[in-house]
Amino acid sequence: MSKEIFLCAINNVLSGTCAEDCAFCAQSVHYHADIERYNYKFIKQIIEEAKLAKEAGALGYCLVTAGKGLDDKKTEYIATAAKAIKKEINDIHLIACNGLASVEQLKFLKESGIDSYNHNLESSQDYYKKICSTHSWDERYQTCLNVKSVGLSLCTGGIFGMGESYEDRADLIDAILSLQPDAVPLNFYHPNPSLPIKTRNINLDEAIQIISQMHKGLGENKILMVAGGRELLFGGSEKAMFDAGANAIVIGNYLTTRGDEPQSDIEMLDNLGLKKATYCPNHN
Ligand code: SF4
Repeated sequence: MSKEIFLCAINNVLSGTCAEDCAFCAQSVHYHADIERYNYKFIKQIIEEAKLAKEAGALGYCLVTAGKGLDDKKTEYIATAAKAIKKEINDIHLIACNGLASVEQLKFLKESGIDSYNHNLESSQDYYKKICSTHSWDERYQTCLNVKSVGLSLCTGGIFGMGESYEDRADLIDAILSLQPDAVPLNFYHPNPSLPIKTRNINLDEAIQIISQMHKGLGENKILMVAGGRELLFGGSEKAMFDAGANAIVIGNYLTTRGDEPQSDIEMLDNLGLKKATYCPNHN
């Protein structure tokens, strides 16, 4: 039987207006990166975009907002969007990715139809201090614990290739696994000349090793996704990525960088003899 690959899509519903100083993020207002910046999208537009993603095969749909974390306005907006999407689209696994979040905020999102919360640890506890001064890694970890405590499914991962050491990578993998997440997105740094981190210090072999290590730790039944940086690092070598244990990809665009057209990803899977999954294991 051919291996099934889970497809997820991202919608950046509030873009590019974050006061934090994460050195890897084009959405920080500190670095003036040349990206599209906009306020909250109309809910109608989000629904239409979700329908298109579902038609293209996405099982998971992630509502992302720039910013340090949830506040009352953002929580209300994501809850409204979740209810509206679930009313119009059946069988869609909704993920929220809105930064730091309290137990109360997460409970409210769950009651409104959100199924999973994504919050990445991004890097090791030690390296994170060197690339962000406005909030701490510990706050990130605590948000992941909050997600689990309210019974949402937890999606957490990180970014590799931001100048971290091998030890930092091992620490990040251990920290992610310590949370026993349901899904892990692995991102590979996409350099942007405006950002303080100018280059990517990871090669294809190292990236494949990371996938394989994460796969061993996570086990068979969890989602292991290659997200940002896939086209840049794995373009033409996707088979190695899936052979190492990845079983999910993001289709369409990322937060601030363009992905391949969904159709070309579907063709890539066909050419490798892989099938699009039709059921998300994290969806109740
Ligand atoms: S908090 Fe999130 S949106 Fe803001 S700069 Fe950091 S990674 Fe980017």
